[in-house]
Amino acid sequence: MRRTTFAMELVALALAVSASALAQTPTATTGKKAPAVQTAESQAALTPTSALEKLKKGNTRFVEKNMRTRDWMAKVPATASGQHPFAAILACMDSRNPIEIIFDQGIGDVFGIRIAGNIVNDDELGSMEYATKVVGVKLIVVLGHTSCGAVKGAIDDAKLGNLTGLLAKIRPAVSASGPGSSKDDAYVTKVAQANVSQAMKEIREKSPTIKEQLDAGTVGLVGAMYDVSTGKVTFLPD
Ligand SMILES: [Zn+2]
Repeated sequence: MRRTTFAMELVALALAVSASALAQTPTATTGKKAPAVQTAESQAALTPTSALEKLKKGNTRFVEKNMRTRDWMAKVPATASGQHPFAAILACMDSRNPIEIIFDQGIGDVFGIRIAGNIVNDDELGSMEYATKVVGVKLIVVLGHTSCGAVKGAIDDAKLGNLTGLLAKIRPAVSASGPGSSKDDAYVTKVAQANVSQAMKEIREKSPTIKEQLDAGTVGLVGAMYDVSTGKVTFLPD
């Protein structure tokens, strides 16, 4: 009888530990412990600087083949009742820069706003306003990348249906970069970087809501470039 009670206590303890692990630390099967899902508390404890640091470290883990072990399906119920991501990333739709992977982040960690050429329009500004003002992210990242097809199309002044208008939004970055060819990788990267700067400028100028948070220091805005040949993200100076 005593032994049965003890066994039942052990089962109860195991279940309690398991439930706790599900709520806070989804998994740690091998190697480094997987991060807990973002909570209101963990989000509130971050600053724009520490949020940036998390992304930098995540990309370093990706490049160094040292990504965290994650039990993805454990994160699904752990985030079902709400989300508290710490960053919003405006990135190109390019299939070679999947943001959660290149920054080694899990479910519920970051907002992904992706569109060809990582250009800014009103709907994306609205998404960023929601991310910062309503959900409380600490950082907005504009992520361009090398060998961007949209940037090449803008350099060539390509015309194709609805794409024409999108590429026109990259043309100011082409003009700002001087003459060059879409076949010149260095020039394409130069334009892509100018396009990131252009997007950052537009975010400040076209969203009083975001500008107010940037000026108050509650939210940060950084530009970055992803290198499709190395996997490395380089954050641009202010
Ligand atoms: Zn692209």
